[in-house]
Amino acid sequence: MQDASTPRTPLLGIDLGTTNSLIAVWQDGRAQLIPNALGEWLTPSAVSIDEDGSILIGQAARSRLTTHPERSAAAFKRFMGSEKRLELAGQTFSPEELSALVLGALKQDAEAWLGCSVSEAVISVPAYFSDEQRKRTCFAAELAGLKVQRLINEPTAAAMAYGLHEQKFERTLIFDLGGGTFDVTVLEYALPLIEVHASTGDNYLGGEDFTHALVQACLKDLQLATDSVEPQALASLYDGLEQIKRKLNEGPQQLQWRCAGEMREWSLDEGRAQKIWEPLLARLRAPVEQALRDARLNPRDLDSLVLVGGATRMPVVQQMVATLFGRLPYRHLDPDTIVALGAASQAACRARDQAIEELILTDVCPYTLGIAAVRGESRRQAFVPIIERNTVIPTSRVERFHSTHPEQKTVRIEVYQGERPWVSDNIFIDAFDIELPQADRIQSMDVRFSYDINGLLEVDVALEGGERHSHVIDRSPAGLDDAARAASHGRLAALKIHPRDALPNRALLARLERAWMQSLGEQRDQVGQWLEAFTAVLGNQHAQDINSTRQRLNTALDEQGL
Ligand code: AMP
Repeated sequence: MQDASTPRTPLLGIDLGTTNSLIAVWQDGRAQLIPNALGEWLTPSAVSIDEDGSILIGQAARSRLTTHPERSAAAFKRFMGSEKRLELAGQTFSPEELSALVLGALKQDAEAWLGCSVSEAVISVPAYFSDEQRKRTCFAAELAGLKVQRLINEPTAAAMAYGLHEQKFERTLIFDLGGGTFDVTVLEYALPLIEVHASTGDNYLGGEDFTHALVQACLKDLQLATDSVEPQALASLYDGLEQIKRKLNEGPQQLQWRCAGEMREWSLDEGRAQKIWEPLLARLRAPVEQALRDARLNPRDLDSLVLVGGATRMPVVQQMVATLFGRLPYRHLDPDTIVALGAASQAACRARDQAIEELILTDVCPYTLGIAAVRGESRRQAFVPIIERNTVIPTSRVERFHSTHPEQKTVRIEVYQGERPWVSDNIFIDAFDIELPQADRIQSMDVRFSYDINGLLEVDVALEGGERHSHVIDRSPAGLDDAARAASHGRLAALKIHPRDALPNRALLARLERAWMQSLGEQRDQVGQWLEAFTAVLGNQHAQDINSTRQRLNTALDEQGL
């Protein structure tokens, strides 16, 4: 509970992860994690629709991914910014609607813990998230009733938590491999200054891809096509291989998997896993090399290496990092929680909290921004950069362009983001038209891009005669008009969210059902008895009995590794 010295508006940081999400608060001069309804820091970023139509978020939904895959969804952050819809129990949701449900659960947990309402937060996003992905994240927050104080890049948040902890002067590379995204950030601490020099990454590479690669290899060995396997059996295979992935450092692992009434077996050791993951491990190298190149550093110039994100717990990833840099990574802050703590520190920084007032953080724009232009005789539209990637933000840059022929009446300014020479290969952001004065000659114009600390881009065009046109890139998600936004608000408002207080019991029931499905023989009988016993205790409605039985059964399941 909060004490009297807590400021009126809590300074909150949220790590909205692909696999897990966390919320932290700046209190008493330090960042602290806030526990969820189950008393845990990590809330799985998973949503499920219960049989009575109510929405489950977090651990219970995570367990139901295996038992009720057609009613559950996870890893939807991977689709943020796309038009993909996910279907749960016959209802369709956008990735930002599902993310809003997770944010709403975190908000409720924070409110219960702090004893006051919460309306604002700093939210972390992968550094390499595009403009559209950032906008959709803001929209998810809006749907959850949260105002985004600032979006902070995940590795930058980690750097902040690490800097506050260490108080050092050094050059550091942050290697952040989460469930669905990969970010590399090179920065320099000269406290109180933390300066980001380069940020690169891959928005479609994370720990989930390593599990997916195991699933594909297993199905191939067992001569099964993915679409021939029932959704529930496939979900159970993902679950089993996720566990095996985490235990591989303990020695060779054996999978037992029931598919179409038949028991299947598959074994895996580190050597085979390394082969299966070779293409993914190779993809980790390029962003590291690019970040160092952009920061004009060699691996030996770095003083330290920080690993962030759950997937950096994989020994093969640690080995790859050690080989790439010729040294062991530095990691004594928890890679799962560091980003949320950093985001809360950023919230304190913005609020000019005394304990953190001194710290100055500079960040970069991780991708190149520019406009479409005709180059030479080519008919293809070329991409002309105005702000190059890894420019320190805020920044303002100007480039001169010319009309293409003397009679031209309007010019269309098309803004793109990306690293490819032709606009067709880059990401379209926005476009607008400008009227040219009648002059019967080729006219020049200066196009200025101003990019602020939140990623807000403003485009200014100055014509020869001094006439100026200013255009703020629309922050509302592209492709989402007012009607679509209102529909999202309406859809979420109509949902019945499972009551928070009942979640610990619901989560245990879901866990027992999953454990029953995954076990066999005597272990399955035992789980079946626990399930019956807990259902009976719930029926008696005696709070103390329910709590003690729940604790006992959760411990028993932990001991069985279920
Ligand atoms: P994050 O989004 O940072 O929570 O990272 C989640 C990813 O980390 C998931 O893909 C997990 O499979 C992976 N992960 C978490 N713990 C481990 C572990 N002990 N070994 C291997 N992978 C892990």
